[in-house]
Amino acid sequence: MKTEFELINAICTKSKTRNPKLKIGIGDDCAVICQNSQTDLVVTTDLLIEDIDFKLDWSKPEFVGHKALAASLSDIAAMGAKPVWALISIGVPEKIWASDFVERFYDGWLRLARKFAVELAGGDISRAPDKIVIDSIAAGETRKNRAILRSGAQAGDFVFVTGNLGGAAAGLRLLESGKTKNPASSSLIQKQLCPDPQTKIGLILGEKRLATAMIDLSDGLSSDLRHLCEASKTGAKIYAEKIPIHPKLKSFKEFRADALRLALDGGEDFELLFTANPKNAKKIEKLLPAASRIGEITANAGRIELCQDSKNILIEPRGFRHFGAIENAKL
Ligand code: ADP
Ligand code: MG
Repeated sequence: MKTEFELINAICTKSKTRNPKLKIGIGDDCAVICQNSQTDLVVTTDLLIEDIDFKLDWSKPEFVGHKALAASLSDIAAMGAKPVWALISIGVPEKIWASDFVERFYDGWLRLARKFAVELAGGDISRAPDKIVIDSIAAGETRKNRAILRSGAQAGDFVFVTGNLGGAAAGLRLLESGKTKNPASSSLIQKQLCPDPQTKIGLILGEKRLATAMIDLSDGLSSDLRHLCEASKTGAKIYAEKIPIHPKLKSFKEFRADALRLALDGGEDFELLFTANPKNAKKIEKLLPAASRIGEITANAGRIELCQDSKNILIEPRGFRHFGAIENAKL
């Protein structure tokens, strides 16, 4: 079965007519559109479907609203941009309409929007036959020609990630197995249900021009590093012992053996993966203590290697995908 990435590549090849104001179309975390002589606009859209992207049994309506906006803000952060506008459309079955879901959904959405001064500019409401459908659109601004693209990495650049990885995937496993009572589980479940977009870090990288390429970690490190390398026509080598695994994974014996795999392939951490010229490494260390250097970009286009115990292993993209997946389950 074809994957969604194969479909996206096919659409991209077919849609060739280009308005010169559209600087970057399909293929990056956001489209980049010329706004005026000083600024560019970045725009992203994300679809969330009940029982695929969230489950009402696990998630409060406020968290669903938060996550819908957080996913879009994460894409804006990945461009080094400042979020400014958002639109939210929601389709709800009648029985959900009769509950307090929609009001509480907006409470969660608006709380996160206020944190980053994002204005709700519009949306749409429809009745849905069976499950809730949410479309989140957000837009932001960068200074002219300053959007950080997936395609800017060069051989020799260092590879960095923010925060720590594998937490959201572990949180999902805890929810699936019903193991939610252990006190150590709450930060993992929080990471899954109510993720924080890395808006401030994205802005610092954009304003200080410290990153050569960037993507957010929505599908998982193994997949998203591949997307960045494909766009940049490079390879990468990362080091197992440098990957910042979520510290709470150690608290669960079922995650200990699997922690590295969760960090490599687990989706939805919404951290940032970026590359930088080695001359900026010291500045990055100082300005962004939450960023870890995990490897380097190589000239071996398409070859993504993991160095573990002095052995190099090729990494296959095993992160989340909706269609044609190795493991086709988000929830
Ligand atoms: P992200 O995980 O950063 O949100 P996606 O993997 O969803 O990115 O999308 C990658 C690129 O493909 C983006 O530029 C997005 O706009 C584009 N894209 C995704 N789905 C479609 C679609 N159905 N039609 C056109 N472009 C799409
Ligand atoms: Mg993205």
